[in-house]
Amino acid sequence: MARGESERRRLTILGATGSIGTSTLDVIDQLGGRESFEVVAVTGNGNVELLAEQARACGARIAVTADESRYAELKQALSGSGTAVAAGREALIEAAAMESDWVMAAIVGTAGLAPTLAAAERGADIALANKECLVSAGSLFVDAVAQGGGRLIPVDSEHSAIFQSLEDDQRHAVERIVLTASGGPFRTSTREQMAGVTAAAARAHPNWSMGLKISIGSASMFNKALEMVEAKHLFDVRPDQIEVVVHPQSVIHSMVGYTDGSVIAQLGCPDMRTAIGYALTYPKRPSLNVERLDFTRLSRLDFEAPDEDRFPALRLARVALERGGLQAAVMNAAEEVACYAFVDGRIGFLDMAEIAEEVMDGMIGCGSATKMAHVFEADAEARRMAREIISKKEMAA
Ligand code: NAD
Ligand code: MG
Repeated sequence: MARGESERRRLTILGATGSIGTSTLDVIDQLGGRESFEVVAVTGNGNVELLAEQARACGARIAVTADESRYAELKQALSGSGTAVAAGREALIEAAAMESDWVMAAIVGTAGLAPTLAAAERGADIALANKECLVSAGSLFVDAVAQGGGRLIPVDSEHSAIFQSLEDDQRHAVERIVLTASGGPFRTSTREQMAGVTAAAARAHPNWSMGLKISIGSASMFNKALEMVEAKHLFDVRPDQIEVVVHPQSVIHSMVGYTDGSVIAQLGCPDMRTAIGYALTYPKRPSLNVERLDFTRLSRLDFEAPDEDRFPALRLARVALERGGLQAAVMNAAEEVACYAFVDGRIGFLDMAEIAEEVMDGMIGCGSATKMAHVFEADAEARRMAREIISKKEMAA
């Protein structure tokens, strides 16, 4: 049944308690809150206090924590609110499968894949922040969204910028996609310096305030590596059409180069709410209270070629794209395990890329996925191998 203009748009927010999730709820508030939208479900993991607060504030029908051990706490925090409560991985998938029009996919890591797929299969529009699920499931994920009948709208700032710079009837004239990268906190560090950095130093992103994993990924440029794969699937371009340029000011969020030599870019202050708002109201533009660029205060915009010796993640992304098949899923899974091992102080900063490469090489014959089960199998095997390598490194240390 088609819904009338006057009906409120129904929204689901997967990963509501995270950096993207809280910004999404802020955008929803800015655009009319309960007057304009009905929040069907909000989900989180360990932070049940914030999840309960969010559910009460937006009047969500259900709040789900992925962490089963926190069920009673969430239930207690939401007693008398009218919001239903559930916990666990299955409950997360069921909440994602509940009818709604638009889903913010903002769970971090491959944990987001199954719930986001459930939402895609039932035909919701998917606002995709959780790049990992596209990196690991690739065209299977794109196909699932297409078969469901919803739209796939990027939220990652680079991909939102490209999406905004791509004119649908000019797609045949796209020559290249230029992803900008801030270069992170170690842009000018030597490899020797990087070898000894702590997780706290790696987390301190110069321009963006983000969740833990993506902050570490920005420092190692694994985030950009994932974004190269993400770009391939979102925009259906060849690997040789994807360029990365370091742009320390993070003002140009990314660009599209056309066959006539034109380059169209999207610019803005580093605030994810612009990309989130665009994904929520697309194809219209919302009116948002975010900081405006003041060009008179932008003294310069710098660009540098990325250094693949210091940031091998970029080379690994190219290897994954060239090898094709499940190699990107393997890279993604190994990187996720290595990232948390680095955060826990078990391995060094440079070990992350080494481990990802070793796992990718070890699974070189892993083939392609013809169904989602293959993705989950390759993901699990890559994690197992990564953990094994980490244990060996620890024993050797
Ligand atoms: P975050 O760590 O701040 O939040 C992650 C969310 O996922 C939280 O709600 C958390 O409760 C939930 N979560 C964590 N583990 C879970 C699990 N096992 N099962 C279910 N839920 C779980 O992360 P973030 O920075 O908001 O990033 C979310 C996603 O968006 C990532 O894929 C990231 O790459 C992408 N992204 C983030 C930004 C940014 O500015 N933060 C920008 C672009 C893309
Ligand atoms: Mg990004």
